Amino acid sequence: QYVAVNGNLIDRKNAYIDIEDRGYQFGDGVYEVIRVYNGKMFTGNEHLERLWKSASSIGITIPHSREELKDLLEQLIQKNKLSLGTVYLQYTRGIAPRKHPFPSDDVKPTLVAYTKEVGRPEEKLHSGIKAIQTEDIRWLRCDIKSLNLLGNLLANQKAAEAGCDEAILNRDGRVTEGSHSNISIVKGGKIYTHPANNYILNGISRRVMLEICAREGIQVIEEPFTVKELQDADEIFLTGTTVEVMPVIELDGKSAGGGKPGPVTRKLQNWFKAEIENQCGR
Ligand code: PMP
Repeated sequence: QYVAVNGNLIDRKNAYIDIEDRGYQFGDGVYEVIRVYNGKMFTGNEHLERLWKSASSIGITIPHSREELKDLLEQLIQKNKLSLGTVYLQYTRGIAPRKHPFPSDDVKPTLVAYTKEVGRPEEKLHSGIKAIQTEDIRWLRCDIKSLNLLGNLLANQKAAEAGCDEAILNRDGRVTEGSHSNISIVKGGKIYTHPANNYILNGISRRVMLEICAREGIQVIEEPFTVKELQDADEIFLTGTTVEVMPVIELDGKSAGGGKPGPVTRKLQNWFKAEIENQCGR
C-alpha cells in the first residue's frame, strides 16, 4: 500500500512521523475523509474547498495548489487500486520544537494521505441504527474540521459502550450534530436540521441532502431543534461521508424516529445513491 507524505507517494512501511510534529503533539492540524466509489472521489472538490477553509481558519497555509493535491490523491487511489473506500488526508502545522506559538513561516505543513477499502454499510442503511444522546462538550469552532476530536471521541465511546453506533449531541438541550455525522429529523413532512454555523461541521453530505430537498420540493428548516423534538420526531436520519443517509430507529434504548426507517428517509437514500451514481458511475 502506498501513502502520500508531503508530495511523494511512498510505501507505507517507509512512512514515519516526527515526534515533534505539531499534529502528533497538539492535534494542530486539519483533515478530510473523502468517499471513493468506482475509483472516483465523490464530492471531491467540495471536500478540498472545506479543507482549505479549515486550514485558513487556523492560520495554516497549505503548500500545494488544489489541483496538485487532487492529482496526488487520484494517483494514490490508482496506485492502491482502490475502487470502493475512503481517502483520509491531513495537514498539520509541521515539525518544530514543542512550544504553543506557531513556528516561523519556513516550517512547512506536513501532509499525510492514505486510502482504505470500505464497503457501503448496506445492512445498516436498510435497517437503521441505534444512538444515544449526550451533552455536546466540544469547543465553539466545530465548523473547523480539526484533528482535535476528543469531545467527539468521548461521546462516541459512550455510544459504543451502550452498543450504539452514534452519539447525538446537544448544547443546552438543542441538538447540534452526531459525534461523526450531521443529524436531521422529519416532522409533519418537513425536515429540521441545525444551521451550518460554528456549532456544527458543515457536512458535505448534509449539503448534498439540502440540494436534493430543494430540487424535490421538500421543505427544510435550518433551525436547532430540542432533545424532546428529537425524541418525538417522525423520522431521524444522519448524513455523513461514510454513513450516507442513515436511519436512526432507537434512541437511549427506546424506539425512536418511528422505530423503522421512514418514507422521507428512504426517498432521500435513493436520491443520494442516484447522486453518487451520477458522479461516480454505477
Ligand atoms: N459532523 C462531524 C462532527 C463529522 O465528523 C462528520 C464526518 N466528517 C460530519 C458531521 C459529516 O460531514 P461530511 O458529510 O462532510 O462527511
